[in-house]
Amino acid sequence: MDVNVLINAFKKSFPNVKNRDTDLIKKAYDFSQKAHSGQKRMSGEPYFIHPFETALQLANWGMDIETVCAGLLHDVSEDTSFSLESVKKEFEEQIVFLIDGVTKLGHLKYRTSEEKQAENIRKMLLSISRDLRVVIIKLADRLHNMKTLDVLPPNKQKRISLETSEIYAPLAYRLGMQSLAGELEDLAFFYLYPKEYKWLLENVQERYEERQKYLERVKPIIEKDLKENGIKIFKIDFRTKRYSSLYKKLLRYDMNLEQVYDLVALRVIVLEIEDCYASLGIIHQLWPPLPGKIKDYIALPKPNGYRSLHTTVFSLEGKPIEIQIRTVEMHEEAEKGIAAHWAYEQKKGSKDYLKRKTVFADKKELLWVEQLRNWQKDFSDPEEFIKSLKIDFFQDRIFAITPKGEVKDLPAGSTPVDFAYSIHSDIGNECIGAKVNNKMVSLDYQLQSGDMVEIMVQKSKKPSGSWLEFVKTSYARKKIKSAIYRSSGIAKKVAKQTEFIIVGQHRVGLLKDVSGVISRSHININRISMPQSGNAPLTIKIKCDLNDKRKAEKLLLKLKKVESVKEISYKLV
Ligand code: MN
Repeated sequence: MDVNVLINAFKKSFPNVKNRDTDLIKKAYDFSQKAHSGQKRMSGEPYFIHPFETALQLANWGMDIETVCAGLLHDVSEDTSFSLESVKKEFEEQIVFLIDGVTKLGHLKYRTSEEKQAENIRKMLLSISRDLRVVIIKLADRLHNMKTLDVLPPNKQKRISLETSEIYAPLAYRLGMQSLAGELEDLAFFYLYPKEYKWLLENVQERYEERQKYLERVKPIIEKDLKENGIKIFKIDFRTKRYSSLYKKLLRYDMNLEQVYDLVALRVIVLEIEDCYASLGIIHQLWPPLPGKIKDYIALPKPNGYRSLHTTVFSLEGKPIEIQIRTVEMHEEAEKGIAAHWAYEQKKGSKDYLKRKTVFADKKELLWVEQLRNWQKDFSDPEEFIKSLKIDFFQDRIFAITPKGEVKDLPAGSTPVDFAYSIHSDIGNECIGAKVNNKMVSLDYQLQSGDMVEIMVQKSKKPSGSWLEFVKTSYARKKIKSAIYRSSGIAKKVAKQTEFIIVGQHRVGLLKDVSGVISRSHININRISMPQSGNAPLTIKIKCDLNDKRKAEKLLLKLKKVESVKEISYKLV
């Protein structure tokens, strides 16, 4: 835990770093060490190892000064007696913003393992982060936690590994950090599938070695041939397939290892794009390719921006081997993804990169990944690049979470009522109150990303028409309207009768005259009652099949004309 180790790692990407900046790293280092002093990790080691390793990882990825410092300080406000306020007094706003973002992400709890939910959680995570550097710090933090997971109890190991495999590894992959994604996957695989891991160890280890030895014989032949054809080779190395991805592949091939040609692949790294294609041609002349296995990810990169040429050829003794061909830049990008960009910013001479025009794969399935890939655009202005890291493509969405951990993706400005309807229309209709992050809120409260929302219901409660004034989703609006319509529909059923109350002077034939008027209007009389009898005035109540106010009005006028009728009124019943 030497601060100079950290500074030297930082200098690899930023060789012209000013003293002011190295002083800032030292300051953050001292601050963090002091804040965490006396704290121990589960393993019994000093806690400070963790923020130090996180920051070191960030420096090795070539991240900028703010990110490295935030890496050192990321657990200070959460795990120590030092508040975010105390960090604010000592460090600039950007660093505080990054720390705050990482802290917020730490509060999210994932309790699901459904693909669609995982996707929503990833979105929520990005939406809360608001800056991709927050996500990258979180990834470095997670990597170190995964590397030191063995000291935790098994249930925690499983939960953290599941989260890593379903949320963080795919996120790293989307950010083009393939190498990190693979490392996280493998670490999680060990805890999630211990039996399978053991099986692979026992069955594959030997074969890995065997393959590697075989490729050691292939390598010089290719190297010699490429050189003779004038290809400038940067290096040729091996890529061994990760256990987690091998296992996935084996499941598709009935666990038949013979079917996996890329257990160990040969990686040819050249200087120019043209040399990639030239190398491919030369290798295909040397050994015949396996049809259908040639992949041009340079012309058609993977959705996360991965570029390379892949081919499988029948090499020495007719054995199939996979060969990947790419340039130095493509290689660095495949390893570091988004993080590679900081390093590029520093290489001012490398016009090659700035001029490069990237063509992306035409996959629209994940629009946000495409938006995320904006970091891959060429930025001549570093400020522009930082701006591109601000995640604003979710600004019109919010991601709120149920107490069970299910994420709801809603338009910005949504309220607990919208949330309730998104769970189930009955929950919406019967909603009487809501708690957000365990505090009572009004039903028109505007939800924020990351809010945990609990809806309180009362059986057979009806929605209020006033909700229509604040709900945001058209789904909630529709359901509220139809629930109100339904309850008023019941009222109409009852109100399809009209009752006339006629007060008149008692006379023989009055009742006959009145009922005659009604019958002549073709209206069915259901009931006639006369609450009083004897002396005047006489009241006659007549219920009839009539639910039309206009017709009732008309009939009322006719009835008024009947002799000795004094007063008349009606009501719908
Ligand atoms: Mn941490």
